[in-house]
Amino acid sequence: MDKNLKKLKKILYEVDDINNASSLLGWDQATYMPAKGAEARARQMATLGKLAHQKFSSKKIAKLLKKLEPLEKDLDYNSNEASLIRVTRKDYEKATKVPAKFLEEFSNHASATYQLWIQARAQDNFDMVADNLEKTLDYSRRMANYFPHEHIADPLIDNSDEAMTVSVLRPLFADLRKELVPLVEAVVAQEPADDSAVKQFFLQDKQLDFAMMIAQDYGYDKKRGRLDLTHHPFMTKFAIDDVRITTRVNQNDLTDAIFSSLHETGHALYELGVSHDLDRTLLAGGTSSGVHESQSRLWENQIGRSKDLWQYYYPKLQEVFPEQLKDYSLEDYYKAINKVSRSLIRTDADELTYNLHVIIRFDLETDLLEGKIAIKDLPELWRARYQADLGVSSETDADGVLQDVHWYGGQIGGVFQGYTLGNIMSSQFYNAALAAKPQIKDEISQAKFDTLHNWLKENIYTHGRKFTAAEVVKMATGKEMTTKPYIAYLKEKYADLYDIKF
Ligand code: ZN
Repeated sequence: MDKNLKKLKKILYEVDDINNASSLLGWDQATYMPAKGAEARARQMATLGKLAHQKFSSKKIAKLLKKLEPLEKDLDYNSNEASLIRVTRKDYEKATKVPAKFLEEFSNHASATYQLWIQARAQDNFDMVADNLEKTLDYSRRMANYFPHEHIADPLIDNSDEAMTVSVLRPLFADLRKELVPLVEAVVAQEPADDSAVKQFFLQDKQLDFAMMIAQDYGYDKKRGRLDLTHHPFMTKFAIDDVRITTRVNQNDLTDAIFSSLHETGHALYELGVSHDLDRTLLAGGTSSGVHESQSRLWENQIGRSKDLWQYYYPKLQEVFPEQLKDYSLEDYYKAINKVSRSLIRTDADELTYNLHVIIRFDLETDLLEGKIAIKDLPELWRARYQADLGVSSETDADGVLQDVHWYGGQIGGVFQGYTLGNIMSSQFYNAALAAKPQIKDEISQAKFDTLHNWLKENIYTHGRKFTAAEVVKMATGKEMTTKPYIAYLKEKYADLYDIKF
């Protein structure tokens, strides 16, 4: 191996070790750490973060990248080596272009704003946090201005969805919104689905065992992961062979634990499927928040909430909860887990309305950055958009503009698009898998997931971060990113569920 590449890898391995050690501390903080450990833990994680940053942003890396330029030109773009050099260069630029002093200031401001937001939300008082939010907007613009860009939001979007831009996202989301608004209207005009089947008492341990059984059938290997309980479910990775998930249980709602677990399992399958050749480098991970979300959504919704899947599992679920479920048919259960309603809260929203919540936030944050709208008008603009898109709006700001932490604990811009990109891509990927392997649908009703899982591994997971989302979509599906398969999927599913024609 080239000696400079060897030197680069050595540093990257150590940075990766430090980052993973920090992630392990974070996992423990969310799962088992006693409350009084919090202060020390925050300090330890900050120290590790600083060490990793120092190591990665050192001049040594810049020199090595310079020396590696000729080699990169000789290598195939798709090779692991060329990809490592290319992605390291992008990450290095991101890590070094913004002055440390600015980052520290912004981070202190964000922590203060977060504390204020907790009070503002509790007291339903947007004005309490408005001045801080004004400063956050200013910081966010300044952050973006450290990078060349066409639109002020582009560099902020690029942080979690590399190479995505407002010029791509605006028409894509506008297209989706145009289809979704009348679709939601038509569905909510029907008799609401009866979800009493899932709103009963279901013992925690039985719920967890059932969720884990499906996760393992999907291909989640307990020798390479584990499931624990947290307030907010998440997935975290310490190595390609140690990818953990968490979930939460509501003993009065059967859907919470099962579908959160399947969602996080989708994220985990992605990380577990990355080629071992990329381990310990910055290529060992999902390529963007959008592609990551496409996998959680695919396994949670397209597969997890499908009738095919429950044809196999519902009788098993009835065996586990005979008293609760004996009077409910598969059809009743299928309707209950796919119930649609107009909702105020993004995180409680169903599959059909969810993207409207996200698009509202994307549009507002992009308009804020452009200076088209003002912070002080946010609560009213929020209400107006909810009324227009979802036919409902909150009387309180706590359930309105104050509901999500994103703008109050970080930056304004680039933090919401990944959720909807994920939904769009989930259908595009699934359709491509079905076209290549038509047997997948039948296999799902027999709880066989290998064919689908292997297709996803070969076409998406194995590449890690080597390619951008757009590149992965093109390679895996042969097409540019499009909303068509996703809209078709929603129309077919909800036309059947609510017995309507679109
Ligand atoms: Zn997710």
